[in-house]
Amino acid sequence: MRRNIVTGNWKMNLNHSDSTRLIDEINTKEIHLDVELIVAPPSIYLSSLHKKQHHFSLSAQNIHFEENGAFTGEISAEMLSSLNINYAIVGHSERRSMFHETDEIIFKKVKSLLKYNVNPIFCCGELKEEREEGRAFEVVSNQLNYLLSDLKEDQIRKIIIAYEPVWAIGTGLTASPEDAQKMHKHIRESLADQFSLKTAENIAILYGGSCKPENAKDIFSQEDIDGGLIGGASLDCNSFLSIANSFS
Ligand code: PEP
Repeated sequence: MRRNIVTGNWKMNLNHSDSTRLIDEINTKEIHLDVELIVAPPSIYLSSLHKKQHHFSLSAQNIHFEENGAFTGEISAEMLSSLNINYAIVGHSERRSMFHETDEIIFKKVKSLLKYNVNPIFCCGELKEEREEGRAFEVVSNQLNYLLSDLKEDQIRKIIIAYEPVWAIGTGLTASPEDAQKMHKHIRESLADQFSLKTAENIAILYGGSCKPENAKDIFSQEDIDGGLIGGASLDCNSFLSIANSFS
């Protein structure tokens, strides 16, 4: 049985007292027992927030693929592991576009996380023009290529995949539940072809892109959508929890 997962990506938002307040508020709320909640604050807060959270997990928003060394400003998978942080987002479209991260770099990050037993939340998704040109499936397949061809079955089982159409991130536009489902099904079928049906059925595939309390229920009701990666709406406790409690 795969898990329902809702992950909040705070990006570069909230000062320390606001982030502590938000975590304190989330701590007071009820979450369905069958939903796993993950929060990805700016990495500077991981250590202090880790001591406060109790019924959800923390994730980093990014790592460097090297384990240590002269990489000013970066953090590594080993550092996360030493803090008992169990997740890290990799390949977010903002990292791909603004920081020029290639599929190869992103895959190196995945490998480093797996080495240190930190679960990667691997993002993929097409640009608006790629969808309009009918290339969305091809683009996402190419982004998944390293995972599909270079990972072993026991490694792929540790990964959460987040399908995030780039044109929907922070824009207020969302993929229709049906279009999102088609892509999630495509991803799951690719996993089944490369590994096994059993493995494919156990991997959580999240949807990201302007997911809100108003649309989460419809999106999460799709067969191959196992939750969401939430940006803007995760900065408000009520919106975030309302999304997390949208599974039927
Ligand atoms: C994201 O950044 O991963 C995201 C989905 O953002 P938003 O929910 O704000 O579109």
